[in-house]
Amino acid sequence: MGLGANYDKRLPEYLIDLHIHAGGSVAPHILYGIAMQQGFKLPTKDYWEFVELITVKPEKVKNLDDYLAIMHQWTEKIQSSPAAMERSIYEIIGKEYRSSRVNQIEIRFNPMKRNLHGERDMDHIIVAALRGMEMACMEYGVRACFIFCLAREFTFEQNQVILDKAIKYQNRGVLGIDLAGPEKMNLELRLNEARRYERLFDRARAAGLKTTVHTGETSHTSGEGVLATLQFLKPHRIGHGIRAAYNDEALKRLADSGVVLEFCPSSNLDTHAIKDLDEMRFILGKFKEAKVPFTINTDGTYLLNTHLQHEATLLMDNDILTPQEVAECFRVAREASFIH
Ligand SMILES: [Zn+2]
Repeated sequence: MGLGANYDKRLPEYLIDLHIHAGGSVAPHILYGIAMQQGFKLPTKDYWEFVELITVKPEKVKNLDDYLAIMHQWTEKIQSSPAAMERSIYEIIGKEYRSSRVNQIEIRFNPMKRNLHGERDMDHIIVAALRGMEMACMEYGVRACFIFCLAREFTFEQNQVILDKAIKYQNRGVLGIDLAGPEKMNLELRLNEARRYERLFDRARAAGLKTTVHTGETSHTSGEGVLATLQFLKPHRIGHGIRAAYNDEALKRLADSGVVLEFCPSSNLDTHAIKDLDEMRFILGKFKEAKVPFTINTDGTYLLNTHLQHEATLLMDNDILTPQEVAECFRVAREASFIH
């Protein structure tokens, strides 16, 4: 079987991505086309200026907030229609298969950030996205599902509605929920938030959904936040969680609970959550030593100018992980996948 001319022979035959946002993973020329077709007013009529606008450059982005603002200001708005979502999801799945032989993918997005504050109907957006997923899966022989992101900046009631939608479309392929968005600076506020969302996560699990939470990502967060997440939200997986490397108790609790970390190398570098490759080597070294299971993911392919194959080779080329360790990450990812 042909691997594809540019596929790195050190990698497993197929890859799997557990952490990829729809808002950061559609090629600029596709998004540009969608925007034009729908008469979306862009701040520029020049394609290359548009590309600049929606791509993260480490020198342009100071932190995670800047990074999220790009998604919020442009890509999520352009994706705010049924047709736009159908095309976006369809393109993401095909592209990741072609660039990185990703044959299993869990795409996450917040449907309530794609309905123009209620002007558009959320059910239509979701069903259109599912249609795009089904078409791409059929064409490329890929398995896929959606994870709906609840937002920290939303009200509890808004997030409840998103959970209701996830439960409603569970049998069509919405298999999990996530809690995303910038974490509070203050630890006490972070603990309160974890407590507040406890029963919502209980309800998700009782309904048969899987759960993951963005936490312990940026340098102002901490291992304590990871511990609170484990205690109150009891997620199946954690998005990032890299701050746990600096907290022995968090490392131990992660290893004991078997909660799998979704590690996103380029994302952490570009948002300056991780200083450099040396810090990355230190963090993954801690996880290996403590036997904390972790996986390799893209977070947002085009926003970060990457794909999954590149994420894996980055780690091997810089002697952060051996090819065997990379293969182990993808084995863990298949086991921790919400798709069964
Ligand atoms: Zn993420």
